[in-house]
Amino acid sequence: MSKKKNPGTLCVQGGWTPKKGEPRVLPIYQSTTFKYDNSEQMARLFDLKDSGYFYTRLQNPTNDAVADKIACLEGGVGAMLTSSGQAANFFAVLNLCEAGDHFITSNNIYGGTYNLFGVTMKKMGIDCTFVDPEQSDEEIEKAFRPNTKCFFGETISNPGGHIFDIERFAEMAHRHGVPLIVDNTFATPVNCRPFEWGADIVTHSTTKYMDGHATAVGGCIVDSGSFDWAAHADKFPGLCAPDDSYHGLAYAEAFGKMAYLTKATAQLMRDLGSIQSPQNAFLLNLGLETLHLRMKRHCENAQQVAEFLKNHPQVAWVNYAGLPDNKHHHLAKKYLPQGGCGVIAFGLKGNRDEAIRFMDNLKMICIVTHVADARTCVLHPASHTHRQLSEEQLREAGIAPDLIRLSVGIEDVEDIIEDIQQAMESIS
Ligand SMILES: *Cc1c(COP(=O)(O)O)cnc(C)c1O
Repeated sequence: MSKKKNPGTLCVQGGWTPKKGEPRVLPIYQSTTFKYDNSEQMARLFDLKDSGYFYTRLQNPTNDAVADKIACLEGGVGAMLTSSGQAANFFAVLNLCEAGDHFITSNNIYGGTYNLFGVTMKKMGIDCTFVDPEQSDEEIEKAFRPNTKCFFGETISNPGGHIFDIERFAEMAHRHGVPLIVDNTFATPVNCRPFEWGADIVTHSTTKYMDGHATAVGGCIVDSGSFDWAAHADKFPGLCAPDDSYHGLAYAEAFGKMAYLTKATAQLMRDLGSIQSPQNAFLLNLGLETLHLRMKRHCENAQQVAEFLKNHPQVAWVNYAGLPDNKHHHLAKKYLPQGGCGVIAFGLKGNRDEAIRFMDNLKMICIVTHVADARTCVLHPASHTHRQLSEEQLREAGIAPDLIRLSVGIEDVEDIIEDIQQAMESIS
């Protein structure tokens, strides 16, 4: 499928293009292994001299078709599916960093990523500095060190709803000779394509809007192919120096624009094995076929719900970048002109218990850990997903203790608002 097609067409038609007599619908290649005619053919695959499938821990045709659809949507040179969004962010950074290295991340990020970067990867010897994106360039640039390998941020942060100034941080990263990685989970490529603003690598938790029906956990890494690893060979020996586990092959030299993804597949996926199951990739593909329709509806509904909350006397504050008086509205207009996502953060007047009482009184809207699927749902991060963080860490991550995360679905908006209204009444 040509990358020139419009996003809605790519959602429906991208990735799988059957040849004569092949299934019209992407099949599930439910096979761990693939057949070859002779030993030499297999040997060439293991030497990375030929491309082809040999074992589903590394690659599978169903996964690759879906990854290709996402790569087309993002405007990248290629993509790989991972078992979860966590695995995607872990691999995206680990593909550039080893023990003794350092990277920088915006502090407005998902709680799971916050723990991954701040605790687990630190234990592995990869150090990370959390920066406040609201600070000046001068302040933030103090975080760069000679061993800094990348900069990380989320287009729309989960759960705070902050908008990441992609162009600004892409320029900053490039000034320091490192790539910008953007987690584009909440915006999806239907609403924002970070590569168009200078980002180098995009990650996704496909578990959220891309699947959209809360059926399959998954992740994705997409490469723009635009970062010149060879120009910074000293910084990225993993990509530019010979790999002993591949007979001294150097990825940047051998694979050019596909170096980063080839290394992530041939080395990280081979050794750490966090592939998405082909079954889940099939479900993800069904979700992607309607992503453009659903995102539009999520955004329309969320805009109306945000306006309703904004005008409600029991609501203390609302953070939704689609509201004209939001502090990030100018960034939303720049990066998300067709809308951001369905997730709204807000707080009720009174204390933190009001949030719990409000949520317990909802009828149609359910309390679930999930976010960003067709059904409207709600969560109190301080009591649930971000329970492990201290009050100070919560604030650092841009999450107020009273923050309610409302993930607006694609039902009829009148019914969503009615449920919120009756829950407010029952606690007043
Ligand atoms: C959910 C989420 C993740 C983690 O993804 P999983 O699929 O749950 O592992 C990462 N980043 C963002 C922005 C998320 O919302």
